[in-house]
Amino acid sequence: MSLHPIAEYIDRAVEQLHISKHRSHLGASLIGRPCERQLYYIFRWAAKPQFKGRMLRLFDRGNKEESAFVQYLRQLSVVVHDTGPDGKQFRVEAIDGHFGGSLDGVAHNVPDLDPNEWVVLEFKTHNAKGFNYLKEKHVQKAKIEHFAQMQIYMHLTGLKKALYLAVNKDNDELHSELIEYDFTEAEQLLDKAARVIHARQAPRRISESPAFFECKYCDFKNICHWGVEPEKSCRSCRHVVAGPNATWFCNKHQGRIPDDFISLGCSLYEPIAD
Ligand code: SF4
Ligand code: SF4
Repeated sequence: MSLHPIAEYIDRAVEQLHISKHRSHLGASLIGRPCERQLYYIFRWAAKPQFKGRMLRLFDRGNKEESAFVQYLRQLSVVVHDTGPDGKQFRVEAIDGHFGGSLDGVAHNVPDLDPNEWVVLEFKTHNAKGFNYLKEKHVQKAKIEHFAQMQIYMHLTGLKKALYLAVNKDNDELHSELIEYDFTEAEQLLDKAARVIHARQAPRRISESPAFFECKYCDFKNICHWGVEPEKSCRSCRHVVAGPNATWFCNKHQGRIPDDFISLGCSLYEPIAD
């Protein structure tokens, strides 16, 4: 018996297949993150996240789990809509189309609730450590990003409850919570998104120390703490502002930037100010 390198070949193949792309909008799944400066760098395409094959497979596994959750709920006679009439996930948008996200689904006829009460569905996978912490502290404390995401989805759909279903990837144990809509929380999150989207310079650092926990694992550490220039595009240029209907406006050329030009930038490019 000998070791075989095919596992490594799979990861390399997954990496080649995955074309790392920036998201055009600021995602609701990120808005609960603590550092506004990090959100600003993400939204302004300061650097492309580089994921290893293992991480990409891990994300894919999370996506695959969603259909299993839907199946379990349907076995309990819950009426689940995981896509709209166009066959696509339900999307919500705000702040001129620059902020939004896709719901795992909506449902009614949920056990122990009024059968006519519609809820937002959110499905997540966790490793054993994260899952046990979630069970102990519950989603609002253990996974603030997930909590924030559901508040935004409830706010933008008008639904007042969200059903959170989580699985422990190590042993398939399940955990479920019903999250109540909190108007104040959702409004604060939307204000945060608006601040990030319309910021004219990088927001304050969460810490001045690159050794701080959030900074240590941040994709933008070099840009943020060490002055490395961001990736060039109109999004990372100091002359750009977010416009209506998810468009971008250049203050230098005084015009709307064509969509296919945004990733390029022109010779008058100047990187975003600190
Ligand atoms: S390095 Fe730290 S302060 Fe800078 S963006 Fe990342 S988390 Fe925020
Ligand atoms: S067109 Fe040029 S100056 Fe205007 S935002 Fe893009 S890179 Fe900056």
